[in-house]
Amino acid sequence: MQCYSIPKVQGYYMNHDMLGEEGDFITSPEISQMFGELLGIWFVSEWIAAGKNAAFQLVELGPGKGTLLGDILRVFSQLGSLLKNCDISLHLVEVSQKLSEIQALTLTEEKVPLERNVESPVYMKGVTKSGIPVSWYRDLQDVPKEYSFYLAHEFFDVLPVHKFQKTPHGWREVLVDIDPQVSDKLRFVLAPCATPAEAFIQNDETRDHVEVCPEAGVVIQELSERISLTGGAALIADYGHDGTKTDTFRGFCGHRLHDVLTAPGTADLTADVDFSYLCRMSQGKVASLGPIEQQAFLRNMGIDVRLKILLDKTDEPSLRQQLLQGYNMLMNPMKMGERFNFLALVPHQRLHGRNHQTNARQSKPSPSPVAGFGELAWR
Ligand code: SAH
Repeated sequence: MQCYSIPKVQGYYMNHDMLGEEGDFITSPEISQMFGELLGIWFVSEWIAAGKNAAFQLVELGPGKGTLLGDILRVFSQLGSLLKNCDISLHLVEVSQKLSEIQALTLTEEKVPLERNVESPVYMKGVTKSGIPVSWYRDLQDVPKEYSFYLAHEFFDVLPVHKFQKTPHGWREVLVDIDPQVSDKLRFVLAPCATPAEAFIQNDETRDHVEVCPEAGVVIQELSERISLTGGAALIADYGHDGTKTDTFRGFCGHRLHDVLTAPGTADLTADVDFSYLCRMSQGKVASLGPIEQQAFLRNMGIDVRLKILLDKTDEPSLRQQLLQGYNMLMNPMKMGERFNFLALVPHQRLHGRNHQTNARQSKPSPSPVAGFGELAWR
């Protein structure tokens, strides 16, 4: 969608708590604790595989209510003996004042007052309940360029897209205009001539409608640059496609589809993430793994074992039902199992010397050395 540059003070994400049953949409960490726990294990596994650095930053883009980070931190605490000499810090990239307050409530120790400075790129600082320093930023650019693990869950789908349509005169951008017929309503119009954003379209594009999210490209370039310079990894999870879908831009309000042109600023606007574009934007600076479907990723991370452990721990019928329903929601191909995908960016050295392709003498591809992207290899 043509995005008129809106300062980061207004708009749907700025003052809403849109997540959860009462809100406009619900995300995996809000559905089941198992989701965050398995992601926590993924980060620890990558930290070990990369040589157990003495320190790391965990950076989350768009942390919502902080639930996902809370579940990840619980795993870090449980693996305390492994991580005890590692200097961990948290860095949250969040534009919403309202959600940053909720994140602070979820994550920080009440007795340690939050430091606030609206003028500073680090607009808030605190300490988590387990004693880890946590800082808030509006922009990834402001996060210190140190050894980091990055997490973006349902972040890329909220970034604005440009829409294009092929016409007999070539590509034309689809713009948003005020509807002269109906008050309080917008309408789509085709740009009368070529617009600069057309540069985003690939020369060999075969679709006749295309959505491009340049902001996602900028974030991926920044992540790739950082990972190639300092190491670490990024884990990206979202609903999306591999450069094949056409018109996915839509709105949600109160868990129902909402006309994107009606009552602007009141609904969650979203577009499926084009994973092939994200991979292209890494410009070969890092290696990418995936996209792999959520059900495969979580199964590879051991969700079935985790479910069994949690079920064995409780006889409470409502808790057991909640666990089973959560598992079904995350894994069922008709629900989130196939629609959501995981993509990882890792330094090239991480895969160095490993052969990912099918070995000529083997019938099966060799397992990925990165957890989640291949079947768990028990050693
Ligand atoms: N990751 C969370 C929340 C996803 S909702 C979860 O899985 O539950 C999207 C999140 O991204 C919200 O926290 C929203 O406020 C934040 N966000 C939206 N636009 C952003 C931007 N341009 N920069 C940083 N955060 C943004």
